[in-house]
Parts: sequence; structure tokens; C-alpha cells
Amino acid sequence: MDGFRANDVSFPTRAIRVGSEPEKWNSMAVVPPISLSTTFKQHAPAQFKKYEYSRSGNPTRDCLEECLASLEDAKYGLVFASGLAATTTIMHMLSSGDHVITMNDLYGGTNRYFKRVLIKQGITVEFIDTTVLDNVKAALKPNTKMVWCETPTNPLLQITDIAAVSKIVKEYNKDILIVVDNTFLSPYNQRPLPLGADMVMHSCTKYLNGHSDVVMGAVCTSHEEAHNQLRFLQNAIGGVPSPFDCYLVNRSLKTLAVRMMQHHKNGMAVAKFLEGHPAVERVLHPGLPSHPQHELAKRQCFGHSGMVTFFLKGDDLEVSKKFFSSIEVFTLAESLGGYESLCELPSLMTHSSVSPEERAKLGITDSLIRLSVGLESIEDLISDLDKALNVCLAEMNKTARNTTDAAAAAAT
Ligand SMILES: *Cc1c(COP(=O)(O)O)cnc(C)c1O
Repeated sequence: MDGFRANDVSFPTRAIRVGSEPEKWNSMAVVPPISLSTTFKQHAPAQFKKYEYSRSGNPTRDCLEECLASLEDAKYGLVFASGLAATTTIMHMLSSGDHVITMNDLYGGTNRYFKRVLIKQGITVEFIDTTVLDNVKAALKPNTKMVWCETPTNPLLQITDIAAVSKIVKEYNKDILIVVDNTFLSPYNQRPLPLGADMVMHSCTKYLNGHSDVVMGAVCTSHEEAHNQLRFLQNAIGGVPSPFDCYLVNRSLKTLAVRMMQHHKNGMAVAKFLEGHPAVERVLHPGLPSHPQHELAKRQCFGHSGMVTFFLKGDDLEVSKKFFSSIEVFTLAESLGGYESLCELPSLMTHSSVSPEERAKLGITDSLIRLSVGLESIEDLISDLDKALNVCLAEMNKTARNTTDAAAAAAT
């Protein structure tokens, strides 16, 4: 699609079948039942069939974990109460004195957790631009235990070369664990494990669930030792999701492939439209030839999601506000990955916890708008954007006229 790698044709079939085998149940239910029981009968003390207590294992959760593992080309899948609970559990694999390398342009919540919570446990986190491979090489230390990548990043959609980073890191020390936050693309569009990563982390809240009604996280891995530790920690820390939420996310996975194909199509169409609009300064979308890492994206991914970022001309918060007060089909809200289109202003919303200096360094200005393009008809989405952007254009021209008038008045 649009020059990206060809996807595995069995993906939709695996999404529908793996983990949902009717033979698992005495009833032969085609749709896995929601097993709400917190406890399970034992034959004799400490002799149980498969499950004992629902925090350590639950039949409905197992169905989802098996399916997720299959979609990420992993042996094992583990789910958690949120994306951040998944991240926290991964970080409990580390000890005081360990060093972690991560991207400087990270999801705001991960950034906050690393800088304000993890640091108190004596773990040092070094923030670098992982899109530059020499930076990764230079940051590696004898006590480096983990490299955490998020690609593409939020909201700038910068891309880290997963295969190249994995090679550099493993050549330095094969025991360093490489984690990729794959939330922005979902396994339909990017599978980090075959590229050399050890673990994939997800906020299932976004594309995997796709209906904006569940908060959940996941980790997938084929690394035996990492899996053993994570399985222990999942139970020992206890950040697990409810069986009901597991049922909902598993149901959502059945339509992941069709949803992602349509998100890609709508996102591409919106990006191309924005690139041609006179109120727009620049559009960031890995599928556009103008994206600085377009070639890498085509090599690494099977497509893109509905995430599109663009800059309005000028850097005027008032103009950005006009955009949000004029747009109707897109809803002004945080989060992403649902069937409904959303728009937001990162500088005041999702990235307000990033310091102004850091925002300036990254280029997150008041004219940067992030869209999560949903599954509505593309004609409606484009006419909505066109209308709002024309209001912005009128506002820009008014401001420009006022400035010219003021200059003329000053000159006379
Ligand atoms: C939302 C998100 C998270 C955090 O997940 P929650 O489910 O909100 O805890 C982590 N990484 C990325 C890229 C996200 O978008």
C-alpha cells in the first residue's frame, strides 16, 4: 500500500482465530465467554486444573494474550490494566544503578513516569534522539540494561530504525533488552520483534481496542527469560485488567486489519489534502515523500495509522484556537486510535507536562495540531478540515492586514 512493505496475508485470519478456539470450552462457544470468577476449585490442596486465582491467570485474559502474541509474531503476550501499568511492570525487571536509554520525543505519560517515578528507584534514564544512530552508539554504557524506543513518536512522527538500533545495541552487549512502544502503528503496520527487538509494549487503549472505551496495556515477547520475569511480575505487582475489558479488546482485534487499512487510507488522504492547503505550513506523515524518513518508513512498516500532524502558517495561538472552534466532524479531545476522528493541540493538552524549553527544542509549537483520523467518510472529513482551515486563513489575513496597517500608520 502506497509503497510500504507487503503485509502477511494471514494476519486477519490469526486475529480472528488464534486464542478463540471453541474446543477450549465445554460449551464449544465460538465467542470466548467472559469468565468473571475470581477463584477456581482445586482437586486437592494446591492441586488445580489450570487456574487458581484470577490475578495470576484468567481464561478470558488468556484468549486475548494468545491472540496478541500471534499478531506481534511473539511466543507470549501479557496484558495489564493500562499502557503505563505495562511500562511500570517492564521497568520492575531492572534494579537500582541500572541505565536506560530512551528517545527524547516520548509519549507524555511515559516521559513523566521515567522522570518523576523511575528515577526515585535509582535508575538513570538518558533521553537522546534515537533517530540518529551515532547517538545510540555514544550513549551505551557498561550498566545499560535497556533501550526504550517509541516509533513513530508522538506528535512529531519521527521514526527510529528498529533493525539498525537492535544491531548496534546487541553488538555492544547482547543482554541489553530492546523495547519498542508500538502503540501508534499496531502490529498490523509494524512488527518490531522480527526486526530485532526483545519486547513490544502497547497501550491497547488506542488502535488495538479502537473503540475508545477501554484502558489497557500489553507486552509481547519471545524472550524466554524476559517472559518468565514478566509473568512473575504481572502477578506479583498485580496491574491486571478485568475479564470484561479483555473480552472487549479481544473482540476489537477481530476487526483490527480492516480498521487499520481504512485508517491508513483516510490518514493518507487527509495528509495529501493538508499539504495542498494555503493555511498549512507543513504536514508530518511517514507516507508522504516530504517526510524526512519516508524511505525508512516504507522499509520498516506495512503502512501508517490515522495519525497526522501539521503546522498552521505563522505561530499564532489565536489562529489555532479558530481551527478548534470551527471544526465539527473532528472532536477536540486527547487520545487516539478510535473509530472517531479527534484533534488536539499538543502544546496545551497532551504535551503540557513537557517543559516549554523542551517543547521548543522538539518543535512542538502553538501552531502544531495533531489529528487522529478515524473511519468516517473521507469526503466529510476533508470538507470539515477545509472549512476550519479557511476560517484560519481569514484570521491570518486579518492579522497580516492589521500589521501592515500598523506599519503604514507608524511610517506616516
Ligand atoms: C496512550 C499511550 C501510552 C500510555 O497508555 P495508557 O493506556 O494511557 O496507560 C503509552 N504510549 C503511547 C505511545 C500512548 O499513546
